[in-house]
Amino acid sequence: MELKHLTSVFTLSTPFSALLINWYSKRKRPLPWRKSNAPYRIWLSEIILQQTRVEQGLPYYMRFIHAFPTVENLANASEEEVLKLWQGLGYYSRARNLHKAAQQIVHDFNGDFPTSCQELLKLKGVGPYTAAAIASICFNEPVAVVDGNVFRLLGRLFAIDSPIDTAKGKALYQQTANKLIDKTQPGDFNQAMMDFGATVCTPRNPRCMECPLQPHCAAWATNSVKVYPVKSKSSITKPLFLHFFVIRKNGGVFLRQRPEKGIWANLFDFPSISSFDKISEDQLSSAATTFGIEDLSGAKTSGPIKHQLTHRKIMAEFSLIDLPEFEPTPEMTFISGPAALRAYPLPKLVERYLSNEIFTHPKKIVT
Ligand code: SF4
Repeated sequence: MELKHLTSVFTLSTPFSALLINWYSKRKRPLPWRKSNAPYRIWLSEIILQQTRVEQGLPYYMRFIHAFPTVENLANASEEEVLKLWQGLGYYSRARNLHKAAQQIVHDFNGDFPTSCQELLKLKGVGPYTAAAIASICFNEPVAVVDGNVFRLLGRLFAIDSPIDTAKGKALYQQTANKLIDKTQPGDFNQAMMDFGATVCTPRNPRCMECPLQPHCAAWATNSVKVYPVKSKSSITKPLFLHFFVIRKNGGVFLRQRPEKGIWANLFDFPSISSFDKISEDQLSSAATTFGIEDLSGAKTSGPIKHQLTHRKIMAEFSLIDLPEFEPTPEMTFISGPAALRAYPLPKLVERYLSNEIFTHPKKIVT
């Protein structure tokens, strides 16, 4: 597809990048990883901020830098330590890949970050977006980043009708961004695009009245800001029903580690059953038996608690049952209380349930 939309709105590259970088020089967000362009810090921030808002990711970034000031420190940590620090941020494969990539850098690259976009792509968990961000910000390579902020800004600015969730649409957006990038200041240009999309051309209520690009904005001119960026289909979320068995014995509970694949891989939670349909009483009793619970009648059942993952809506229930004589199955780990629990990486949903303080207030359960 040609880039006709660019010339129809305003001349290429120079005015756009000049306007944008000028805005950035005055309004850029004072983020801690911007104090230096050290690749370790930029990489860490980019991985944390994937699918995550800056306000949410910031404390995690500070925590990681404090715990692992260098890529070597991160490489030498255990996966459990890394997952524990990541707890609550979701998308745990990012944390596992972060850890593996740190080990790659130390073992395969002598502790030095690769310096080109092409080489950066060899690192675990580093895709085209992250590679372009690091290469442009740290090594001045003129490669454009395209993320949700950039889709939105370019989609509105040029009234791009190609859907962002098709290969054709994505390629057009990438071409457009590549065409616009300032070749002398690619890092500033990319960060300006991200900041502008995050703070001015926002998803809801964009600040069009104070936008320096407004005179050039095709969506503004046609009163169609809400139409862009165009998507071909709305994302469908499949509901997943989960039922957890919280077995309490002598004031402690039993956890088990989740499998390596699937949601919350390798994290710890309670024995559970899952289904794409509502779980029946029969299914529940039979699952309970496999975990060694013969009678569920004394259980206090919470919920349902709704929990949203990216592509999936979860409806969860927790059955808390006191079994003083319980014999755990081999994969279960006994947790004696809140202090012991802190050592285990848990899914946010389980944390939400546990915030009802089942250890200290046996009667206080989500109902
Ligand atoms: Fe975005 Fe509004 Fe500016 Fe257009 S005028 S680029 S829609 S903030």
